[in-house]
Parts: sequence; structure tokens; C-alpha cells
Amino acid sequence: EPYVRKNVKVNYIDGSDDKKWSKKDFPWTKKLEANNKKVFGNHSFRPNQREVINATMSGNDVFVLMPTGGGKSLTYQLPALICKGVTLVISPLVSLIQDQIMHLLQANIPAAYLSSNMEWTEQQEILRDLCSGHCSYKLLYVTPEKVAKSDALLRQLENLYARELLDRIVIDEAHCVSQWGHDFRPDYQSLGILKQKFPNIPLLALTATATASVKEDVVQALGLVDCIIFRQSFNRPNLRFSVIPKTKKCMEDIDKFIKDNHYDECGIIYCLSRMDCEKVAKKLQEYGHKAVFYHGSMDPDERASVQKMWSKDEINIICATVAFGMGINKPDVRFVIHHSLPKSIEGYHQECGRAGRDGQHSSCVLYYSYSDYIRVKHMLSHGSMEQSSFASGYPRSTPSYSGRVLETNTENLLRMVSYCENEVDCRRFLQLVHFGEKFDPLSCNKTCDNCLKTHTLVDKDVTQIAQHLVELVKSARQEFSATYILEVYRGSMNQIVKKNQHDTLKLHGAGKNVAKGEASRVLRHLVIEEILLEEVKKSDLYGSVSSILKVNEKKACDLLEGRQTIMLRFPCAVKVSKSNRNDATPAKGLLTSSKQTPSRVVSTPAQSQPEVDLNLS
Ligand code: ADP
Ligand code: MG
Ligand code: ZN
Repeated sequence: EPYVRKNVKVNYIDGSDDKKWSKKDFPWTKKLEANNKKVFGNHSFRPNQREVINATMSGNDVFVLMPTGGGKSLTYQLPALICKGVTLVISPLVSLIQDQIMHLLQANIPAAYLSSNMEWTEQQEILRDLCSGHCSYKLLYVTPEKVAKSDALLRQLENLYARELLDRIVIDEAHCVSQWGHDFRPDYQSLGILKQKFPNIPLLALTATATASVKEDVVQALGLVDCIIFRQSFNRPNLRFSVIPKTKKCMEDIDKFIKDNHYDECGIIYCLSRMDCEKVAKKLQEYGHKAVFYHGSMDPDERASVQKMWSKDEINIICATVAFGMGINKPDVRFVIHHSLPKSIEGYHQECGRAGRDGQHSSCVLYYSYSDYIRVKHMLSHGSMEQSSFASGYPRSTPSYSGRVLETNTENLLRMVSYCENEVDCRRFLQLVHFGEKFDPLSCNKTCDNCLKTHTLVDKDVTQIAQHLVELVKSARQEFSATYILEVYRGSMNQIVKKNQHDTLKLHGAGKNVAKGEASRVLRHLVIEEILLEEVKKSDLYGSVSSILKVNEKKACDLLEGRQTIMLRFPCAVKVSKSNRNDATPAKGLLTSSKQTPSRVVSTPAQSQPEVDLNLS
């Protein structure tokens, strides 16, 4: 019968609060350290590796949030090596699995994998070995659809379990469980069956990208009850971030940027479509760069040969769709350029994360135009987005929940747009807030474009806007998303808004004179300050989710009753006409009354930008 997920009350324990996990007197400590050196060739542990290993070896369910390249694999490979049985690893892509197994075999660690596109006889052989008395594998990798669809595998696991040889279950790239994440895989949803069948086996979930809602979703779907969480800062101090308006001269800009800053160095240019990849690569070749393209329509041999040339530095620049990079481990990537808008902040963060793994300074430049937003949106709604999985190639969404997926995708995309249109806040702050991390912009040390800006900023009292938004959320009898609330506030008359108007009549259009960017910044601020809560709402049997806003009554009352003022910083308008020049003088901190509020703040780049035409579509 199908696995039906239940919502459980989860008890989260912050692993970093407990010094116990850093101790060096566990029964396995000596063996651990020796094998880390001898087998893996590491001199020491990276942040949180020892702690995660100790927590999982102690039999706990553990959730690990560690940036790409942080060393998540070691946290299960090392325990697998020193335990007597088998570790089951679920990983989304056959190509990733093959890469891991190659490394393991090189280190003389016996490992195997099962996937649906393997010969049945080969699979049988591996399964037979598992149930033999002397199981020879330490690690067994499987793709999630194997767990969902193969009874033979589940039977073997039960067999191992009965013989006390199932040591641990690992869910790698665990964000794939969640439709909130940027890389949702339907088959991950059925992994909850593992905890159901093997309640006593420690489960280890690993990911590099998880917002609070993704984390909640993953933990729920996997059925973890008491779960220790280890997270570390996602800030990458050696990366520099900037967003640049994309104009007709975009390719010239890119060429100049590379020649000025990273000549003959290694880089990735992420493009939206396969055709974009080819055109951008061709243009760069004309400019004299060693550039090639890489995308899903190429045959596997071609792709392998490109990867090889790239790792041997025979080419410098790869123009690729997002399909390129998962599991790519080149340490000296000096720049990651986004030729068009990424689909989500998580995706963007991960793609940028492929730069500077050696710790040296590297650049992340995003060329942004509003017209790209429309293109991406169109691609998302027509399902023509490049799949990031070459190997399995299965669809990301089934018809039964594609509507939800689309909604989530659109929400993610809008957040990316708001990131690009933000000309004020530190880029690191904006990214990290998304991972539930509070980052002090002062620590950026002017390593992002916004922190580098010298233009005058004005503090603006946005209390009234904030009050309206909170009241709006409060008055709605139904539960609405952030996007919807903004639509109503700014007086949209679209169909759904009209239908629900009776709920929100009083404030419908109250913000029609407030710039969209401004309203959404205030709304985001309210979420960040937890005056509004953005909650994951589980809505159907499939466990699909959507985001809704709720008022945090405890924190909202000060604002609603006028005891709290909210100030936000905006860039000073470029052209200030005489009549409102006074408005643009910097306000005096929290004492400003709302009467002094500058009328409107700078136009967003979206409105002021020339149309892009590279004829790329
Ligand atoms: P993640 O899965 O977190 O992205 P990986 O597990 O693939 O990261 O590890 C990234 C790289 O870091 C690998 O090349 C790995 O060999 C290396 N690495 C991991 N742990 C250590 C360590 N303790 N010391 C040195 N190198 C390490
Ligand atoms: Mg990994
Ligand atoms: Zn900054």
C-alpha cells in the first residue's frame, strides 16, 4: 500500500549547543582519527565533521546543513568504514553516485550502487551479496526511485536489519525531498518509509541548502522525531557578489569583466537555455577566450570530454545550464557569471558556491534584466526548463501536483527578482537570511556591490505601510501568500483578488502609491523580524506544500498599537526635484515622524532598463 505521510511534532536539538559532540573520548575516537588520516588522507576534521560523526555514531537522527564543499560525505563514509555492517546512502543522481564510488574504490573501501537503468543480473548479484553471510560492501548507494519502487531492495534491507547489519541510512542532498527546495524530486517523498520500517536505525540527512521551511518539510517527510541539527554559516567570505544590469552590451561587458579581472582563469557562465549556452560560448570564442558550452542535449561522450578538458585546464570557461556543476569539484574556479536570472536564491547560492573552493578570492556576477524574469517564468510554466538530472531524466513533477510546484517555483523566482532589485542591502545578508542565518552586514567588509556603494541612503519611516500589511494579513479570513498580499495591497484587480475581495476590502489598494519594490521590502522585513510568520502549509495527501503568511500576535501588537516604529534604509533618489528636495534629506533615525517620509524612492532597475536583445531564445 502507498506510504502516507503523517505530520509529527518534531523535537529539534541544536547540536552546536552541546559541547559533548566535540569530545575526543568516544569509544571510536581513535579509530576515527586513524582512518581519517590513513584511508582518506585528511590531516584533520573540518568544522562540524567530528561533531556530526559523533552524534550519528551515538545512534541519533541527525540533520546536517553544511555548505557545498564543506565535506558532508566524510560524515557518513568514515562511520561506514568503522562500523561492522552496511550503510545505505540515497543520492539523487547516478552520475554523483558513480563519482563517489570511484573515489571510495580508490581508497579501497568496498562500495556498490543500485539504479533502475542497471542490468538486472548485475543488480541481482549485488543484492545476493548483501544477504550472504559475509556481506562485502560497506556502502550501498541507491537512487530514491529504487526505494520507492523496488520490493527486492526493501526485502534485502529487512534481511540486513534482522541480522543487525544495517548500520545507518543516509539521505544525501536531502533538500530534494521538499517542493520548497530548488531541486524537488518526487521520489524523495516516499523515503519516509525507511524510518517507518527501520525505526531504530540512525538516519543522517545532509544538504547544502535548506531554508527553515525546507528543513521542516524534509524532517517531516522523513519522519524524524528527535533530531539533532548541525548547521554552520553559509557565508563564503572569499566570494564577491554583484548584480549588474543586463543591457544589449551584455556580452561585451562579460568579455571586459573577464579580461580585466580573471584573464585566462577558470570560470562558469550559467545560461538559461541550451541555445544561450551555445551562443554565449561562440561569442566568447570570438573574443579570444577558451570557452565551450555544456548542456543536456549533448551526448554523454561529448559531456565527458568537456569535463575532462575542463579539469585539465585545456579550456577555461564553460557556458552551461544549471545541469553542470552538481558534484563538480574543481577547486580553482575563479568566477561564476549568471548570464540570466537564477530560478531561486538557494539555487543561486549553490551555483555561486562552485567558485573559490580553494579559499582564494573569486567573483560572482549576475547580469539581471526584468525581461529575463519573464523568460524564466514562461519556461517554468511551460515545463521546458532544463532538467538538472541527465542520468535519470525522470520528470520533476507529476500532474497531480504540478500546480503547486509551479506556485512554489514562481514564489522562489520572485524572491530572486527582489534580490536583484535590491540596491541597498548587503548581498550576503540577503542570501543568508534565506537560510535562516542572521548576518551582520558590517562583516561583509565591502565585498558586495551594495556595501561598496557610496551613494547617500535615507532612513525612511515605513511604519504605516507595515501596519497596513500586517492588518491585511490579519483581516484575511483565508490564508494567503506574500505575493497575494502585495497584490491586494497595491490594488490589483486580478481574478483571484476580486473573488476574495470581501475579506480584505478595507485595505484593498491602500498601497497603490507605494512602489512595488518598497512594499515587498517592508513585507520581507516583517517576515525577517518575525512580526509576520511565513508558514509551510501542508495541504494534501501527497504532502505538497504552499507558503502562507500569518501574524505573530505577540510581536505584532506593538506595531499595530503604535508603540513601534519601523525604519528602513533606501537609496537617495537620483534626481530630486526642488519641490521635494527636503524629503530626501537623511532622516534622524527613529525619531522621524511619518510626515517627513520621502515620497518615492528611486526607480528600480527593472523599470529603467533598456531591453536586452541578444536574440537568445
Ligand atoms: P560536500 O558533499 O559537503 O559538498 P564533499 O564531501 O564532496 O563536500 O567534500 C568536498 C571536498 O573536501 C572533497 O574533495 C573532500 O575530499 C574534501 N574534504 C572533506 N573533508 C576533508 C577534511 N577533513 N580535510 C581535507 N579535505 C576534506
Ligand atoms: Mg555532497
Ligand atoms: Zn555586503
